[in-house]
Amino acid sequence: MAHIISSECISCGACESTCPVEAISLGDDQFNIDAATCTDCGACVDSCPVEAITAG
Ligand code: SF4
Repeated sequence: MAHIISSECISCGACESTCPVEAISLGDDQFNIDAATCTDCGACVDSCPVEAITAG
């Protein structure tokens, strides 16, 4: 499993630097988490101001 960023993402970028394995990157219209890289650590969850990041 991997954490997921929902469509509520406002592309603020607050989460990107919180990921220890650099799984978060900006896609075409929002930030996304690479499921193959994410270790499900949860470090990014509280960084999101709109609570768009959840456990998958
Ligand atoms: Fe990165 Fe951890 Fe968030 Fe996965 S849960 S995207 S490994 S910070």
